[in-house]
Amino acid sequence: MGAKRWLNETLFDDLGFRMTYQAERVLYETQTEHQHLVLFEHPFFGKMLMLDGATQVTSKDEFVYHEMMTHVPIFAHGRARDVLIVGGGDCGIAEETLKHKSVARVTQVEIDASVVEFAKEHFPEFTAPVLADKRFELVIDDGMNYVARTGRRFDVIIVDSTDPQGPGKVLFSEEFYAGCRRCMRKGAVMVTQNGVPIFQADELTAGIGKFRKLFADGACYVAAIPTYVGGHMAMGWATDNTALRKASVRTIAGRYRKAGSFATKYWTPEVHVAAFALPRFIAEKVAKAGKR
Ligand code: SAM
Repeated sequence: MGAKRWLNETLFDDLGFRMTYQAERVLYETQTEHQHLVLFEHPFFGKMLMLDGATQVTSKDEFVYHEMMTHVPIFAHGRARDVLIVGGGDCGIAEETLKHKSVARVTQVEIDASVVEFAKEHFPEFTAPVLADKRFELVIDDGMNYVARTGRRFDVIIVDSTDPQGPGKVLFSEEFYAGCRRCMRKGAVMVTQNGVPIFQADELTAGIGKFRKLFADGACYVAAIPTYVGGHMAMGWATDNTALRKASVRTIAGRYRKAGSFATKYWTPEVHVAAFALPRFIAEKVAKAGKR
């Protein structure tokens, strides 16, 4: 039996460090039209997907990111019917979204069909319930094109993208956010994966700066995802409804009960509200991000 392979996360090479993960087995590896994709079995984190040397999802900690990117905007909005997911290849976000029975339609716009195809085989825990749900619609397209052209309108937009490299780069542009704003209904909210502030501070401040040019409220909330190394991960927040992120625990708990109090492993009404209370070093970066 040859030596086990170690796979490097090269996202922070320019900062002079790498995470490296031992692969019990490499389950799937390919160069798609858009990116390098590798899925492997890790002794602790279970299945791990990497795209272009960046960890996307692991079986062990996916629930943190997927629940916080989904339940926070949907419960904050309170009456979401139409949800747009940009990216989201593995369908983990769609799976959480469809737990909200009040949501009438979920549209996922993914640029790389092979990521969804591969997820059907390797992440059935996400794809099986999603693809069986009539409310789900998959569109293979560049998110930038879709938001610039679609006639549809949405209450919540969840940008579950890769990092600002390769095909994901355009999803951090002002043009893309303007396209999202164009297809948002009155009072709608958009959330984005906005990196890890301790390492990706510029990404955070640049993103919020762009939000503040287009929306009345540009901010972020945080959660700690073990394999998105660096402590807090920031989730960008953009809306014209400045009251949404100020909803009380009581209000959010009431909406959760009305939604049937479905099972969660990270998100709670208290965690929801607390996620907007930013540590000072992040709050100071956010405060400086583009003045309205
Ligand atoms: N949660 C992960 C993260 O935070 O790094 C992201 C997961 S998901 C796998 C990211 C998806 O975004 C990938 O499937 C990728 O193909 C898709 N994607 C990248 N650029 C895109 C674009 N311009 N339009 C639509 N989807 C895109």
